[in-house]
Amino acid sequence: MPSEDQPRIESVAVRVGEFSGVVPEALEFALEVLTADSDLAHVSFVLEQEPTRLACNTCGAETVADAIPFLCEECGSIDVQVTSGADLTVQSVSIADAPLRS
Ligand SMILES: [Zn+2]
Repeated sequence: MPSEDQPRIESVAVRVGEFSGVVPEALEFALEVLTADSDLAHVSFVLEQEPTRLACNTCGAETVADAIPFLCEECGSIDVQVTSGADLTVQSVSIADAPLRS
C-alpha cells in the first residue's frame, strides 16, 4: 500500500508516434494488465497518437506522411527526414492534491 507521503497519480498522458512501432491499443491493454491489482490500478492512461511529420531536403517543405515509402507531398522527393512521430513520450503526469493532515 502507498504511504500517506506518496503522491497519488491520477492520470498519465502518453504521446504515441505513428512511426514509433507502438500500437496504441496494444500499449493500452498492456498497461491495464500490468497495473491491475497494483497501486496504479486507478491511474488512467491517456494515449494520443502523433502523426509522422517529414522535412524535405529537396524543396524544404514540411508535410505529414500518410504511407510508406515516405515522400514529400510537395515535390515527390524521397529525400526526406522524419521530424516527429517516431517517439513514445510521456507528456504529463497528473498528481492529486495531498490530503490535509489533522
Ligand atoms: Zn519536397
